[in-house]
Amino acid sequence: MTVPTVPPGARRLPFSVLAKPTGAACNLDCTYCFFLSKELLYDHDSQRMSEEGLETYLANLLDSSPDGVVEVAWQGGEPTLRGLAERLRRPGQQLHHAIQTNGTLLDDDWGAFLAEHHFLVGLSMDGPAHLHDAYRVNKAGRGTHDQVLRGWQVLSKHGVDTNILCTVHHANQDHPLEVYRYFRDVLGARYLQFIPIVERVPADQLELAEQGWRPGAHGRRTLLYQQRGDAVTSRSVDPAAYGEFLVAIFDEWLSRDVGEVFVQDVDVALGNLFGRYSLCVHSPQCGNALAVEHNGDVYSCDHYVEPDYKIGNVADAPIQAMLQSDAQREFGRSKLTTLPAQCQSCPVRWACHGGCPKDRIAVTADGEPGLNYLCAGYYRFYTHTQPTLERIAGLLRTGRTAADIMGPDAATPR
Ligand code: SF4
Ligand code: SF4
Repeated sequence: MTVPTVPPGARRLPFSVLAKPTGAACNLDCTYCFFLSKELLYDHDSQRMSEEGLETYLANLLDSSPDGVVEVAWQGGEPTLRGLAERLRRPGQQLHHAIQTNGTLLDDDWGAFLAEHHFLVGLSMDGPAHLHDAYRVNKAGRGTHDQVLRGWQVLSKHGVDTNILCTVHHANQDHPLEVYRYFRDVLGARYLQFIPIVERVPADQLELAEQGWRPGAHGRRTLLYQQRGDAVTSRSVDPAAYGEFLVAIFDEWLSRDVGEVFVQDVDVALGNLFGRYSLCVHSPQCGNALAVEHNGDVYSCDHYVEPDYKIGNVADAPIQAMLQSDAQREFGRSKLTTLPAQCQSCPVRWACHGGCPKDRIAVTADGEPGLNYLCAGYYRFYTHTQPTLERIAGLLRTGRTAADIMGPDAATPR
């Protein structure tokens, strides 16, 4: 095995990679999951990373990564990779393993493995059964909530560190407190992420996209999801409803859960107040979160796994060289340089930074293209939370805890 390595003395910049050793293969058929369509990019029968490919990828990843903590993030292939990664790491590197899973195949063996090796598990769940099952279905079209719940129970039983990844979409957007309280009170979850579903598509493909993204599903012709078009499917979250969803959860969190429950949207905004950007979507620039496909192809971002954004292959060049390539630098910089005037003068730009370029399909009040589809929601959430977040930041600066914000006068006027 020959692995391209970073030249001696060259600088290693920090980055993250999401690897997909099993390509677009999945045992479920979630209606809004456009990644299912990515199997069209490759020969369907060979979408699995070989042992040699896995080793090449890991050796490249670890050689390209700076010393210190290396996050190894996976969607598939975990047991094999863990042993390999431990063998390949440099003495100055500590590995943190993370996986995202739909949870439906987790059993006690998995629970024990994930706990023993301190994996952080991101579990996808969209709320209680009647909301989760709207789009998160199996290949027979049946809801998967009960199986995911069993997966959650396995993780809890084994004490695995877990994040809930909840997508926000048309079916659950009007039920923020039901969703939040379900996670907090029924599951006992403490770490929550709310991810907006925006399925963009050219208008002439909308009808097809409404049927889902699995190639050939329902006897239809195939459609590869690409970041093109300015129409959105009916499953996508409504921007204003998204804002209200986050505001309602924020107020509930503020009234009793500060320091106990961690909501990513709040933590990210608080970090931004301190100039510490922890999420690419709300950073001034992006470009250091790459994606690797099962055959070693590297893409600019997990959301841009499409031919124009392929920046190399792990067998041909160090990932660090791809990260520092002109194409990737431009990809990251363009998040800032294409920011429309409305965002540049926006009072909550510090928190929002225009959101992810993939969602910038709207026009500003002045008719300038490039405004984020979710703008109304972001604006609502950040203007509502800014006064409280500034007070929390003030507490933290004086050595107090965020939980000190809670009290009878904590609520921000709606
Ligand atoms: S394109 Fe969006 S998701 Fe990808 S790195 Fe940039 S901000 Fe993040
Ligand atoms: S809230 Fe809207 S205008 Fe303000 S930075 Fe975000 S997307 Fe731009």
